[in-house]
Amino acid sequence: MSAQLISGVALSEQLRAEIAQRTAVLSAAGKQPGLAVILVGDDPASQVYVRNKVKACADVGFHSILEKYDAQLSEQALLERIASLNADPAIHGILVQMPLPKHIDSTRVIEAISTRKDVDGFSVLSAGELASGLPGFQPCTPYGCMKMIASTGIDLRGKHAVVIGRSNTVGKPMALMLLQANATVTICHSATADLAWHTRQADVVVAAVGRRNMLTADMVKPGAIVIDVGMNRDDAGKLCGDVDFAGVREVASHITPVPGGVGPMTITMLLMNTLEAAERLHP
Ligand code: NAP
Repeated sequence: MSAQLISGVALSEQLRAEIAQRTAVLSAAGKQPGLAVILVGDDPASQVYVRNKVKACADVGFHSILEKYDAQLSEQALLERIASLNADPAIHGILVQMPLPKHIDSTRVIEAISTRKDVDGFSVLSAGELASGLPGFQPCTPYGCMKMIASTGIDLRGKHAVVIGRSNTVGKPMALMLLQANATVTICHSATADLAWHTRQADVVVAAVGRRNMLTADMVKPGAIVIDVGMNRDDAGKLCGDVDFAGVREVASHITPVPGGVGPMTITMLLMNTLEAAERLHP
């Protein structure tokens, strides 16, 4: 039996329509949501990411600004710019595209963003809020994964979820969100002994490693939900995930494709966080 596809494209379309509606209400009251995107340097992948984010803002009716700086920009100048955006009432979310040039301390930059405008959810305070079960901004990629799992209609209460990967931006917040949704959660990483033993127990597997074909059909329990966060290239240079899609789709009940899965959801959840930032400021 072939798994049902969880399309990030279709789900994003639905969510973006909802975001556009809520944006129209705010804008009519003179409170249009605004996102500032800052890019330092000329990394080609980052250029594409920021362009897509700004276009997505325009599509849902946000005000957005894209500021591009030379790779030589000093850390001090960047911190000063963030301080002025923190004080700008037209801006509800601030996103600094990573990675930053080596001479800039990215932690200092992330921590300089006002907690009320931390729509990436990467600051220590946002991470603490998530860990404590307090309302705050949730990192966009795992937030999108949760929406994809919710779209299956399957309740996570009593389910066992295995997250492969423990980065601060994906694996750890993913595990916390699954826990918050009442799943029993296991986190695996590069030092995990017998990864397949763990994944075979899982009702939900989230693969967030960055290594193609690392999750194969023999590692998946029949009927599991499989979420593929990985972004890799195959031998032909085509985008692929961490999951052996052709094999795993014959075992899983639901599976996300790459491309067209988690990727589009990440930008959608950035829009959602920015909208929520504006709504919180103007209840
Ligand atoms: P990361 O910081 O490199 O973390 C990778 C994690 O995988 C680490 O925790 C690492 O364990 C673990 N790992 C490595 N080899 C492993 C193995 N053999 N078995 C089990 N675990 C292993 O990467 P990331 O930022 O979390 O991103 C993960 C992937 O998701 C990447 O492909 C990235 O491009 C993709 N991504 C996609 C989106 C999207 O929007 N679609 C967004 C963000 C990231 P250790 O901690 O022990 O080293």
